[in-house]
Amino acid sequence: MTPYQAYVIDLDGTMYRGDEPLPFARAFVDKLAAKHIPYLFLTNNSSRTQEQIAAKLEHMGIRCRPENVLTTSIAAAIFINQQKPGARCYAIGEDGLFDALKKEGHRIAGDHCDVVVIGMDRDLTYEKLSRACLEVQNGALFLSTNGDVTIPTERGLEPGNGALTSVISVSTGKDPIFIGKPESLIMDQALKQLGTDKASTLLVGDNYDTDILAGIHAGMDTLMVFTGVTPYERYPSLPEKPTYYVNQLNEWLPHI
Ligand SMILES: [Mg+2]
Repeated sequence: MTPYQAYVIDLDGTMYRGDEPLPFARAFVDKLAAKHIPYLFLTNNSSRTQEQIAAKLEHMGIRCRPENVLTTSIAAAIFINQQKPGARCYAIGEDGLFDALKKEGHRIAGDHCDVVVIGMDRDLTYEKLSRACLEVQNGALFLSTNGDVTIPTERGLEPGNGALTSVISVSTGKDPIFIGKPESLIMDQALKQLGTDKASTLLVGDNYDTDILAGIHAGMDTLMVFTGVTPYERYPSLPEKPTYYVNQLNEWLPHI
């Protein structure tokens, strides 16, 4: 097997679980760094900024600089730039989304918007949803950072951004463009940021329905790790298999 020239790596369930690093996550990234293999952490989480995510990883001893992180918020802001530079945006979200929109030169506004973009917002209100609906009805481009309908937490499955977005879809009768995994939009941006092609880049993730399908949709090789959402028990019935799978990341170290 020819070693891969770059890696796209999921975070939650792959590098850490909550605030705890997963076994061998640090060793995995250390080996990539030692071999000068570029890597990009790719997360559907829209809430946090690149700096916040890099700080969390560094705190766990996992090497990461802000430019090693691509979130759905950044990908959304870049996508908007391709449609309309300096767009007037109505956004529902947290720090990560507002930070990304401003960094890409967009303006945050409450009316006459070019774009409505929805990300995870734990302070969501009826007024925010209403405003988003009105702007979409008035013709604004409707984007959503990701379609995840649930978020696994210690309490169980809580509503994810896809569930929040569905209120606006149902109310307006319009479907959004989803940016995050499993859509290939964000994979194209990841490859562009790494400067490598899909044939020589490996996608690593724990969630079959987002990570692995994103890789498959983008035509990339995939490495599935059973430390997160998708259990090994599901493997036999997966319609399209990942290229490789491991129980823990140490099993892959000899291939880096
Ligand atoms: Mg994950």
